[in-house]
Amino acid sequence: MSVKNKIEELRRSLPEGVELVAVSKTYPAEAIMEAYRAGQRIFGESRPQELAAKHNELPSDIRWHMIGNLQANKVKYIAPFVDLIHSGYSAKLLETIDKQALKNNRTIDVLLEIRIAREESKSGWSESELTDYLRSGEYKLLSNIRFRGVMGMATFTDDKELIRNEFTTLKKIHENLRRDFFGKDFDTVSMGMSGDYLIAIECGSNMVRVGSYIFGGR
Ligand SMILES: *Cc1c(COP(=O)(O)O)cnc(C)c1O
Repeated sequence: MSVKNKIEELRRSLPEGVELVAVSKTYPAEAIMEAYRAGQRIFGESRPQELAAKHNELPSDIRWHMIGNLQANKVKYIAPFVDLIHSGYSAKLLETIDKQALKNNRTIDVLLEIRIAREESKSGWSESELTDYLRSGEYKLLSNIRFRGVMGMATFTDDKELIRNEFTTLKKIHENLRRDFFGKDFDTVSMGMSGDYLIAIECGSNMVRVGSYIFGGR
């Protein structure tokens, strides 16, 4: 199936209210344009410089999402235009995003990345680290960040029950944070990739990040 067909099929099959982020990291501009011509406007990248280069080259109505590990010293490359940063995983990174947003005279939407997988290698807050940080109230000083929700990645496994448990946990954490700290704008639950987006949707995802299913193997 072509990229165009994949995009059309996905957009037909996703329930109303579930946003599709087409993860275009490592794929060339032509592949992105094929998805663009099929109506896709949100693209996700995991490397700041690659994201900035594609932003310069491709149509200006594309909304670029930063989905990968983001080092504080690279926020400057994407701060002028990024639409949503999914990987808000440390206090230091959040402070840098806030500073860079201010410098660019804008507010940047950010998700809090939560570590739900068993793999130690995955980044993100644990629920208790995050709750401690939020209770300190420091986040309220970040006036150029708008906190929009949570992001997480499930364990890379065939064990569907484990994946389901992890996504269910993330959804629950989202509800708790929304109730205790953020309120109604904190409305985004970014979970689900090519291999597990259907489970993620069943567990309450409203933003899926799909790459290889659309564009083919990397
Ligand atoms: C690469 C990546 C994806 C997409 O993965 P696919 O398996 O290609 O769909 C989603 N989320 C994050 C954070 C990624 O790094």
